[in-house]
Amino acid sequence: MISAVRGTRDILPGEIERWQRLERVTRDVCERYGYLEIRTPVIEREELFKKGTGESTDIVQKEMYAFTDKGGERVTLRPESTPSMVRAFVEHGLEQHLVTPKLFSLGPMFRYERPQKGRYRQFHQLDIEVFGIADATLDAEVIEMASMLVRELEIEGVDLVINSVGCPSCRPGFHHALLEALGDRLPQLCNDCQRRAKTNPLRIFDCKVPTDQPTIDSLPHSVDYLCEACREHFDATKALLTAFGLACRVSHRLVRGLDYYTRTTFEILGENLGAQNALLGGGRYDGLMRQVGGPDRAGIGFAAGLERLVLAMPESGETWCPDAFVVAIGSEVRQPVHLLARDLRHAGLSTLVDYEVRSPRAQMKRAARTKARYVLIVGSDELERGEVSVKNMGTGEQTTVARDDVVSRLVGEKCLSK
Ligand code: AMP
Repeated sequence: MISAVRGTRDILPGEIERWQRLERVTRDVCERYGYLEIRTPVIEREELFKKGTGESTDIVQKEMYAFTDKGGERVTLRPESTPSMVRAFVEHGLEQHLVTPKLFSLGPMFRYERPQKGRYRQFHQLDIEVFGIADATLDAEVIEMASMLVRELEIEGVDLVINSVGCPSCRPGFHHALLEALGDRLPQLCNDCQRRAKTNPLRIFDCKVPTDQPTIDSLPHSVDYLCEACREHFDATKALLTAFGLACRVSHRLVRGLDYYTRTTFEILGENLGAQNALLGGGRYDGLMRQVGGPDRAGIGFAAGLERLVLAMPESGETWCPDAFVVAIGSEVRQPVHLLARDLRHAGLSTLVDYEVRSPRAQMKRAARTKARYVLIVGSDELERGEVSVKNMGTGEQTTVARDDVVSRLVGEKCLSK
């Protein structure tokens, strides 16, 4: 038998209910904060991520599912959503057309990473982005919304970390300070760090190699090299977070794995998730839109990993069960049973039937296994009298109801139980 591709997962009935709850809560939270849904293609031009995500990132260097299509064009499965959202915003002139520049999207991403718990090659993200607003109050609102989402999903034991990585005017000074502090220790760091020192020294903070950590821990902090404007922005963000009553920790190692971040970066980490503990992460990227060929507009957003949110959500025990199961006694009632099932479904009730017309006992057993709320029994006697036997599986009570009334009776009971 052919198995699923390594790093991909089937989300099966039984687990899907948690995903559905997650998606319901997510849409609700996005709506409350004024975000509009957008769906962009899974496949994009490779160049979008080279320019957007950045040539020096692990994603672009090692992890993209990029290939030449049959027309000779370089394309890739999207490894993240932000560059696609920026592209769509510019391509459709959404700045002029939308009542709010706040967008959200849910969908699969693809990265050729080493699979482990919480890390897959196809995974799903909620992505939210806001374009054209540079004010620090938005940074705090976005972070507050991310915390609110986690709270609404009843995920406990989380840690909010923030940092500021500065802007193009103060970053070169920090890069210089980093390289100076590394000095002759640079050749002892891993190959990736040597490469990062040349392409984007900030990336050195992403290093996970254990022997490199003491050196990296001794490096200067970006917040100590911020220009006046970046310092004010960071202070204003933290002040509003404090006013919101949100506790956060400043982590100077939080530079995030992408090239485009400016000023604020943040992550929410979850306990009990093992090594892959970032539930969500994001930040400000004021230069990205211009970098991919659009107008010079600010941007901020975050991406949350849905697999990790599902892992961190508490069990709710919710599983699908039908409103009704129609049992046929004898194959001569086959057609009336299907007509009754059709009528129940048309009235909005989820209904199952047994297609093989097994013994009434076997059908009752199956109905019990599906956890149907009502079992409707139709035999030739009932048919002759124009009646249906209705068993409430919760109370065990069984009554006889006229065929003409049974649908409205069950619809009424369903409304009452809601
Ligand atoms: P990033 O786009 O790398 O900033 O990641 C944002 C969020 O997406 C992370 O905090 C994770 O929750 C999730 N994520 C990123 N990569 C993966 C992956 N390979 N598998 C599962 N979730 C991921």
